[in-house]
Amino acid sequence: LVVIDHVNKHFGELHVLKDITTTVGRGEVVVVIGPSGSGKSTLCRAINRLETIDDGTITIDGVALPEEGKGLAKLRADVGMVFQSFNLFAHKTVLENVTLGPRKVRGQSKAVADKHAMELLDRVGVANQASKMPSQLSGGQQQRVAIARVLAMDPKLILLDEPTSALDPEMISEVLDVMVQLAHDGMTMVVVTHEMGFARKAANRVLFMADGEIVEEAKPEQFFTDPQSSRAKDFLSKIL
Ligand code: ATP
Ligand code: MG
Repeated sequence: LVVIDHVNKHFGELHVLKDITTTVGRGEVVVVIGPSGSGKSTLCRAINRLETIDDGTITIDGVALPEEGKGLAKLRADVGMVFQSFNLFAHKTVLENVTLGPRKVRGQSKAVADKHAMELLDRVGVANQASKMPSQLSGGQQQRVAIARVLAMDPKLILLDEPTSALDPEMISEVLDVMVQLAHDGMTMVVVTHEMGFARKAANRVLFMADGEIVEEAKPEQFFTDPQSSRAKDFLSKIL
């Protein structure tokens, strides 16, 4: 589904993505881990073109990422993104947050969008919050709404960048449970997370980044029990 080929990216002098080459297959769940500053967020942001790249190519379904205009809007609809800070529209209700994209971008009627949104809110366990404002919800509930909002666009792929890092501990599992369910339902996902339980349960592949490079790529059971590189061993000894 996604093919990333020899991608490089600099921020000024800083070489943040160094010759990144990898793929994400349809239905695959790829967990990206690595130390702070290793380029994980930049890689995610490059995939839906929130960040430009200097050279190399990224294609989705064989099509190069569009530069601008209608193509870019379609890309953002096809490639959903969930951030650490939930980024809901503060002045819209939960339901409106979920229906806005489908109505504006997909041209759905209010009735159709509302019905689908309620099903999705039910799926992530917050249907009873639909008429509230985001600020009236807990962090875990807001993040589940953010996931429902992405799902409402019927994306080909979802990028999640540390979706549970801003949550109180007791709310982490309610979000991870939704993510595991999505994975089991066959959603294609790229997830930056340090939640190793999620990686073991749901990932098809772990991609370990350090200093802008993919240092190691392996199945989770292999990566966690038998990391090959000294940098991965060192990283795991600090977080496990
Ligand atoms: P973290 O685990 O802390 O989220 P990360 O792996 O996601 O880290 P990135 O956010 O991708 O790392 O950043 C990679 C490097 O690029 C870092 O050194 C960061 O300071 C730098 N960087 C990121 N965004 C910008 C920017 N807009 N301008 C300049 N430098 C940036
Ligand atoms: Mg990051």
